[in-house]
Amino acid sequence: MTEKYDVIIIGAGAAGLMSAIEAGKRGRKVLLVDHAKKIGEKIRISGGGRCNFTNINTHPSKFISKNPKFIISALSQYTQGDFINLIKKHNIKFHEKKLGQLFCNDSAQQIIDMLLLECQMAKVTLKKEIIVLDVDKKDNQYFITTNSDKYFCNSLIIATGGLSIPKIGASKFGYEIAKKFKLDIIETLPALVPLTFSEKILTMCNELSGLSLEAVVSINKIFFEEGMLFTHRGLSGPSILQISSYWKLGDDIQVNLSPKLDIFNFLESEKHSNPKQDINNIISEIIPKRLAYIICKENNVNGNISELSNKLLKQLSRSINTWVINPTGSEGYRTAEVTLGGVNTNEISSKTMMSKKNPGLFFIGEVMDVTGHLGGYNFQWAWSSGFVAGQYA
Ligand SMILES: Cc1cc2nc3c(=O)[nH]c(=O)nc-3n(C[C@H](O)[C@H](O)[C@H](O)COP(=O)(O)OP(=O)(O)OC[C@H]3O[C@@H](n4cnc5c(N)ncnc54)[C@H](O)[C@@H]3O)c2cc1C
Repeated sequence: MTEKYDVIIIGAGAAGLMSAIEAGKRGRKVLLVDHAKKIGEKIRISGGGRCNFTNINTHPSKFISKNPKFIISALSQYTQGDFINLIKKHNIKFHEKKLGQLFCNDSAQQIIDMLLLECQMAKVTLKKEIIVLDVDKKDNQYFITTNSDKYFCNSLIIATGGLSIPKIGASKFGYEIAKKFKLDIIETLPALVPLTFSEKILTMCNELSGLSLEAVVSINKIFFEEGMLFTHRGLSGPSILQISSYWKLGDDIQVNLSPKLDIFNFLESEKHSNPKQDINNIISEIIPKRLAYIICKENNVNGNISELSNKLLKQLSRSINTWVINPTGSEGYRTAEVTLGGVNTNEISSKTMMSKKNPGLFFIGEVMDVTGHLGGYNFQWAWSSGFVAGQYA
């Protein structure tokens, strides 16, 4: 049997659900398919189970893309305020954790339930565990062959997301469809991902495992000031995840472990005012004790500050204010939150999300070359791009 729909959406994640709701609300006959058993798994595990669903500071500058202007239209057609209104309409209680990041008070499942209810109200047909075997185009119609039935439609929306966390359903399907329809792909890489290090730093990370502190982490002029976490596998925490989206193999990363204090100036004045102080004690007042101990040991400094040369104090200060680290890699798609790169946005209309070469074919969400910073921006991109496609599909 071959069934006809106005709109078929492949991928029932954040973007796919939003586009289905919007197309359905316009009276379009919509089919939403996913190969997973459970809908919205990435939403469920997001934000530590509470889903950081948007950020009140959403702005195009919070996104990475080869074509940064592409993002402007969708973000203005459907803003963070629009999504907040949807949440309020469903009486979902939320709070700002920090830096404009909005989280559910209770559970991410509330977001999934809300989207599923909206799909139901918009009369969307949702089918799970559907394996799409082939997609073809004939006379401006898209034909979809699955493991169960065949379908065709005027508008096909690809919302299959990126490559991160393969064990909950990520696949390269979206990129393969893009290639099939002759669309360019920007190289994909794991992003918002913990970084890994050589033996020397790893030993230190192991010793400090579980310790976190506020740090400024930077590559050239890009910097983030958020928490950094030592783990037995390397460095993680928000500032490392953020910088990982800008890091390429071979790049050095600078870490300021005490961003509010110029350590050398401080030590110089301490040397005059309190010459009998032990250097370990002084550093332990500035950064966590365990870290202070390791840094002092690494720099061969101990004893009274008055006995230490300015050269040695400068070297010690540098290893706190400008610690240079050279990651050997990242933990990869297994733990990455998002995928950098994807369908080249030059191929897509920023107003509609439709392929310029293939009328009726749309790409939305993470499968595209649009990657948000950590903090709710990636979901906002999914809602905004999904909303836009839903208006035109
Ligand atoms: C652990 C973790 C935590 C995160 N936390 C946050 C957060 O708090 N805030 C935030 O903004 N972002 C967060 N993100 C990122 C965010 O989840 C994604 O950017 C967002 O889900 C992308 O939406 P999407 O709809 O494009 O893709 P997805 O949500 O990944 O949905 C894609 C869907 O397509 C389906 N699919 C894939 N291949 C096929 C196929 N071949 N056939 C049929 N279906 C297919 C998948 O099963 C999936 O349901 C987090 C990511 C992870 C991994």
